[in-house]
Formats: sequence, C-alpha cells, structure tokens
Amino acid sequence: MPTPPPTSRTPAADGADGAPYSALSHLECPRCGRQLDAHVLQGLCPCGSPLLVRYDLAGLVRASYAPSALAGRAPDLWRYHEVLPVQSPGAVVTLGEGMTPLLPLPRVGERVGVRRLLVKDEGLLPTGSFKARGAAVGVSRAAELGATALSMPTNGNAGAAWAAYAARAGLPLHVAMPLDAPSVTRVEVTATGARLTLVDGHIGEAGGWLARHRPEGVTDVSTLKEPYRIEGKKTMALEVAEQLGWRMPDVVVYPTGGGVGLIGMHKAFHELLELGWVTGDVPRFVAVQSTGCAPVVEAFDAGAEQVRPWAAPRTVAFGITVPAPLGDRLVLHALRDSGGTAVAVDDAELLADLRLVGELEGLFASPEGAATVSAVRRLRASGWLGEDDEVLVLNTGSGLVYPDTVPVAAPTVAPGD
Ligand SMILES: *Cc1c(COP(=O)(O)O)cnc(C)c1O
Ligand SMILES: [Zn+2]
Repeated sequence: MPTPPPTSRTPAADGADGAPYSALSHLECPRCGRQLDAHVLQGLCPCGSPLLVRYDLAGLVRASYAPSALAGRAPDLWRYHEVLPVQSPGAVVTLGEGMTPLLPLPRVGERVGVRRLLVKDEGLLPTGSFKARGAAVGVSRAAELGATALSMPTNGNAGAAWAAYAARAGLPLHVAMPLDAPSVTRVEVTATGARLTLVDGHIGEAGGWLARHRPEGVTDVSTLKEPYRIEGKKTMALEVAEQLGWRMPDVVVYPTGGGVGLIGMHKAFHELLELGWVTGDVPRFVAVQSTGCAPVVEAFDAGAEQVRPWAAPRTVAFGITVPAPLGDRLVLHALRDSGGTAVAVDDAELLADLRLVGELEGLFASPEGAATVSAVRRLRASGWLGEDDEVLVLNTGSGLVYPDTVPVAAPTVAPGD
C-alpha cells in the first residue's frame, strides 16, 4: 500500500495552484439549515444541533486542487489542509498526528470469512488513541479563534488527547472524567498539565458537573459542542482513500460512542466525491456498540431518528460508553444514507477477539477496536457481509491504554532454577 515518504513540512504557500490554504466557507446546521459564521467561536446551533463545517469545494475544483497537490507534503493529517478549518500554517498545533498504518488482517479475515479485511491502526497516534486527530484540529482552531481556556468531560482518551494538544498550544484545560475511566488516561491528563476532576458517575454526569462549575470565559469543547473535532476525525477517511490509491472500501466498521469519527468519515467521503478524487458509492457504515450501552443500535433497529438515553451504561470498551450521543441524528443518517447497519456485541465476545487479533496478527487492540472484529464475524455469519467485500475496521486506540484486558499467567522462577 503506497504511503507517502516522510518529508519536512513545507511552509505557507503549498496549496494547489491558486487554492487557498483552507477553503473553509461557513458552518451549517444539518437540522434547521441555518448558516453560521465560521470565523468566530461557535458552539451548538441555536436549535440545539451540532454544526457541520462547509468548504468551498467547487472553488477548489476550479483551482485544480488534485491529489498531486499532496506530493511532497509531510505524512500527517495536515497534508489535507485545504479541506481543514485552520486558516494558516502558523496556527497548526501538532504532535505529528496522522497517516497511521492501513494493514491487511489476512488470518483474522480467514477466521471470520472475509477475504479483504483491513485495519487502520489508530493506536499509534500521540496519546494512544484517535482522539488525537480531533484534538489536534479542535485545539488549533480554538486557539486560532481566540479561546483562552477550555473545558470538557471525557471517558478518558479524549481528555488525554486534548490535554496534550492544549499544553502544546499553551491553553489551560479542565477535564472531568468518570472515576472508573482507564486509569492511565488520568496519568496522561496530569502529565500534560491539565486540571483533572474525577466524577463518581458516567460521562453525561461528568459533563453536567462541569456545566455547573465552568467559570465565565472558558470554552466548552465537549464532544460535538464545537464543530472542529469532526474535521480532525474525518481525516481517517482521507488517509484511507489515499492509502488505497484514491479508492473507497466497501464497508467501514466503526466503534461508536459519540459517533464523531463516523459522522466525519461519512462527510469526508462525500467531500472527496465532490472534489472528484474518488468515484462510486460511499462505503456502507456499520456502527458497533456494546450490549452494555447500545443506544444507537436500539434506535437504528427501531427506525427512530434519535436515540433514547441508555440507562446504566456498562462495558469494558470505555470509549464507546456514551449513553446519549448528541450527534445521534447525524450518526443514524450516515448509517441509513450509506446502506449500513448497527450491531451490538458483548464484552466476552470482544475480549476474545482482542486475544485473537493479538495472537494471529500481532496487534494489541483496544477493546473498542476488538469490538469491530466481533461485529464483522456476526455480520458475515448473518450474510450481511459477503466474502468478497472489502471491509475496513478501525482500531481506535492502543491496547496499552487498557492493560487489564489480558490476564497474564506466567510462571515465576528463581534465576538459579
Ligand atoms: C472515543 C472513542 C471511540 C468512539 O469514538 P466516537 O467517534 O466518539 O464514536 C472509540 N474508540 C476509542 C478508543 C475511543 O477513545
Ligand atoms: Zn439548527
């Protein structure tokens, strides 16, 4: 699979001929259609919906923006700066995120009956999860628009990522995290200097606590309450298309919590179609959740347009424990628009697949990533997936963040035995 060679970052004027550094145009509400100014800090639409970022894609086409524009750019997500919101290279806050490996999983694929099974391994990103993508773009844009302090609730990985990028931007950040979120993420948040509060409840309750304690002037960067995380996470789709030689896979299997990356990837494939960089059908999207917290699956199966909040969420796949995702309508739309589906898997199943992927392929996956393999097995068994479908699963984090998923049974011997 062609991965571009590493090069140093080229400065300002490396847009395509005549193309601006960023083709950012405005913010748009997918629910009520309202358009908002993208050049000031914005939260939710006044109607309560998350906002989507729009670009002048037609202008980029007129300016001959083509894949050749990427040649020689660094192998990080900023290589797609024309379709990212940050307005100048000087405003980019980076830890080198992006262009993660796209790997075939031939042995696991054989076990589950899918010949062309691919994984995008996001565990290699700074802070150990793909939350780095959303944080890189979200923090860069918040700082560029003049935010002076940030706060957010998190299930762990987002807090770790935003803390790292906030530190790099010199912005103070206050993170509220459930008490039972992966403990290493507390260490990550603390190591990078954010203020941490542990809340004895789930992520929704952590958000509620922060809302009551947030001082004036602190920008709320909760999931989907600012428009730019989606743009960071959409770069997974841009990279996959580039790594496949400007092609889209048939199916994308996504471990869904807030659904940010699913919304973003679906959006990015449509943007690539509009740019004319790919052709054909957008991949069928599969939202994978845990049976311990499956509001999107329940809503999808019921034909509903929004979720009912899940009572008592509980799963080892902490990153997908989101009882009431704010982007529910957008996620459900992406699933239906693409001819996709939604699947819940249980913890025993995903932990068994975590072991399988480790033993057969050498990849120590996160529980969320492992859940996508369990979903592929189920969908193949039911006939929803065909043997010849090209299926992309996302390993959204490193197994290293969850050291308790694999029990170790090693004998201890004395050195002289
Ligand atoms: C946050 C998270 C998810 C869910 O991501 P969304 O885009 O919010 O649905 C999945 N896996 C891991 C490891 C995460 O940290
Ligand atoms: Zn609206």
